[in-house]
Amino acid sequence: PLVLGIETSCDETGVGIVRGTTLLADAVASSVEEHGRYGGVVPEIASRAHLEAMVPTVQRALDQAGVKASDLDGIAVTAGPGLAGALLVGVSAAKAYAYALGKPLYGVNHLASHICVDQLEHGRLPEPTMALLVSGGHSSLLLTEDITSSVRSLGATIDDAAGEAFDKVARLLNLGFPGGPVIDRYAREGDPKAIAFPRGLSGAKDPAYDFSFSGLKTAVSRWVEAKRRAGEEVPVRDVSASFQEAVVDVLTRKAIRACKDEGVDHLMIGGGVAANSRLRALAQERCDRAGVTLRVPRPKLCTDNGAMVAALGSEMVRRDRAPSAFDLSADSSLPVTDTHVPADHDQLH
Ligand code: ATP
Ligand code: MG
Ligand code: FE
Repeated sequence: PLVLGIETSCDETGVGIVRGTTLLADAVASSVEEHGRYGGVVPEIASRAHLEAMVPTVQRALDQAGVKASDLDGIAVTAGPGLAGALLVGVSAAKAYAYALGKPLYGVNHLASHICVDQLEHGRLPEPTMALLVSGGHSSLLLTEDITSSVRSLGATIDDAAGEAFDKVARLLNLGFPGGPVIDRYAREGDPKAIAFPRGLSGAKDPAYDFSFSGLKTAVSRWVEAKRRAGEEVPVRDVSASFQEAVVDVLTRKAIRACKDEGVDHLMIGGGVAANSRLRALAQERCDRAGVTLRVPRPKLCTDNGAMVAALGSEMVRRDRAPSAFDLSADSSLPVTDTHVPADHDQLH
C-alpha cells in the first residue's frame, strides 16, 4: 500500500511516504532552533510552526516520492501521545487531506510508529519482537506480537525518560538543547569509566524491566556541583561518557534479560535515544553474545519523522485494520498499547 504519514507530536513537522515497507519520501521541518533559547520545547511555538510548515512539507514529500496524492491508499497521522496542540495540527491536516481525497484515515500511535519504522530499514518485524523504546518522553520494554494490534508493556521508567535524562544532564553541563546528540559527541572523547555513576533499579530485588534515571541525573548534578564549588574545571567529556555509559549499560542489560526471559530472539531499539552511538555499539556487542538479533534503524529514522507514521499506516492497510472515524481527536496521553485509534474507539481514559 502507498501511504502518506503525518507527524506533529512534538517539534518536528514530519511527512513521509512509503509503499509497503519501501521508503519513498521523508520530509521534516523542525522548529528545534526556535525552542533552543528556552531550554526545551515550547508547546505554543511548536503548534504555530507545524501550522506554517504543514502544507509545504506535504508538498515536498509528494515531490520527493514522485507520486500523486490521488494514488495514495491512505493517510496516517500521529494521534498521540504528544503535545495536545501540536498533535491537533497534524490530526486536522490529515483529516482534511483524507476527506478531500476520499482516502481512509488512520490515527496511529507515535510510540508504535517508532518501532514500526524499522520495517523500512530491515523488512517486516519478526513476531514476536522485543522493542526497547527510548525517547524524549518514554523508556519502555515492549513485547510486540503484532505492531498494528498487540504491544504489551513489560516495564517502563518510573521517573525520567532516557532522552529526558540526556537533555537534563546536557543542560547542567551548559551544552544546550537537545542534549542527546551533544553528549554523544563529547562522550566519544571521554572515559566511560572515569566516574562510577549509579545504575538505577539494578539491585537483585528491583523490578527487572523498569528503569529509573532521575537518581542518575541527581548524582551527575551533585558531582558537577562539587567540582564547581572546589573551583575545579568540569571534565565535560568524562562526565558525558560516564553518564552515557550508566544509561546504556542498564538499557541494554534489561532489554537482553527480557529477551531471554520471554524466549524472544529479536531485539528492536527505537526512539530518539536509539540514535546514540554507544547504545548501538553496546547493544550489538551484548546481543551477539546472547544470540539475539539486533535491529536498529538508521539514526535519522530514530528521531521523530513522518516516515515512521507512514510505515505504521501502511501496515494498518496491509493488515486490513479498521480506519479511524473523521471525528478522530488527538490524545496527548494515548497509551502505548493502543497502537491505533479505530473508528469504534472510546478515546476517554
Ligand atoms: P516521545 O517519542 O517519547 O514522544 P520525543 O518524540 O520528543 O518523545 P524523540 O524525538 O523520539 O522524542 O527523541 C528525542 C530525544 O532523543 C531527546 O531527548 C534527545 O536528546 C534524544 N536523542 C537524540 N539523539 C540522541 C543521541 N545521539 N544520543 C542520546 N539521545 C539522543
Ligand atoms: Mg524532536
Ligand atoms: Fe518520538
